[in-house]
Amino acid sequence: MTLDCAIIGGGPAGLTAGLYTTRGGLENVTMFEKGMPGGQITQSSEIENYPGVTGEITGMDLMMPWPQQCQKFGLKHDMAEVNRITKDGNLFHVLKSDGTSIQAHSVIVCTGSSPRRAGFKGEEEFFGKGVSTCATCDGFFYKGKEVAVIGGGDTALEEALYLAKICTKVYLVHRRDSFRAAPNTVKRVKENEKIELVLNSVPDEVYGDASGVNGLKVKDKDGNIKDIQVPGVFVFVGNDVNNQTLIQEDGTYLCDVNEQGQVIVTLSMKTSVPGLFAAGDIRIEAPKQVVSAAGDGAVAALSAISYVDELLN
Ligand code: FAD
Ligand code: NAP
Repeated sequence: MTLDCAIIGGGPAGLTAGLYTTRGGLENVTMFEKGMPGGQITQSSEIENYPGVTGEITGMDLMMPWPQQCQKFGLKHDMAEVNRITKDGNLFHVLKSDGTSIQAHSVIVCTGSSPRRAGFKGEEEFFGKGVSTCATCDGFFYKGKEVAVIGGGDTALEEALYLAKICTKVYLVHRRDSFRAAPNTVKRVKENEKIELVLNSVPDEVYGDASGVNGLKVKDKDGNIKDIQVPGVFVFVGNDVNNQTLIQEDGTYLCDVNEQGQVIVTLSMKTSVPGLFAAGDIRIEAPKQVVSAAGDGAVAALSAISYVDELLN
């Protein structure tokens, strides 16, 4: 069987694409998701900027009903990792990590982005043993203890606020003296007595022993080293796009991407390859918001419906 549309990734963009393609009349649509549907926002302790949602809710709470809503209109979910997407004539081939392959008339790539590493000594060695990129997942291990957070964007500051509720103290280490996070979030951080700002400083080394992290050394502008003795270090220094499924056997990309590997799309979420669409964090100039990823997913779905209609009729 050939799918009308294959959706790769089941975050806000993929799930919305699934809702709009199926509800818009495409018959055979499958969403391929390697983990639990919901995407990266399920790691967030709080979301307060999704329209219409008031009150304190977690990212997991927000995403919980989305898959069920899609299934009602016929979206199929394949819990599988996609290794590669190729195109042969008018047909796409979706190659899964189990070695099998599915054919599709159209594909919407919604594989999102993943946390970046900061690149300091010990970061890799102690990853999962005191170094983390998810406060909601690992914050509880440091209940009643002190932790360090690296970064000056929305994620770092929001997660520092979350950790300050669980931990006795949060050192917020940032390489500049001003933040790129939203002004309201910066204000809340500055007013929080449990958060100590360590500015104009970069992580130099995380150190520890067989039982985990014992501390973080940071270096300021003048080269002075400060030793912060904490068992937990949370790194929030931005994201890289997950574009691996677009890389072909010869190392080239299936469609045009920019120098950061972000997929170049039109306002209709069309890529340079007919029938291939991209939505959410993976595309150029993505605002990296749940609401815009969902919006992209809807736009990509409408474009995919038109494309398949024209191709088959
Ligand atoms: P993602 O959410 O990244 O979803 C991509 C999905 O694709 C994932 O589920 C992944 O498992 C899957 N996938 C990837 N590769 C493959 C593959 N090869 N095969 C199969 N499946 C694959 N935004 C806000 O609007 N408000 C906030 O308050 C907010 N807070 C945030 C807090 C944190 C801690 C983080 C990390 C992000 C936050 N964001 C927030 C940003 C928001 O989560 C993202 O912009 C949004 O999730 C992007 O959606 P997406 O569908 O494009 O990608
Ligand atoms: P980001 O905005 O790219 O911020 C990354 C931070 O890490 C920056 O402060 C950067 O410093 C710092 N940094 C980068 N590399 C570093 C390194 N090697 N060592 C030390 N510090 C380093 O990333 P983000 O905070 O994850 O946010 C990603 C996107 O999601 C943004 O568009 C953001 O607005 C969005 N988001 C939104 C919300 C929300 O709306 N509530 C919540 C979370 C995320 P500089 O500032 O000096 O560059």
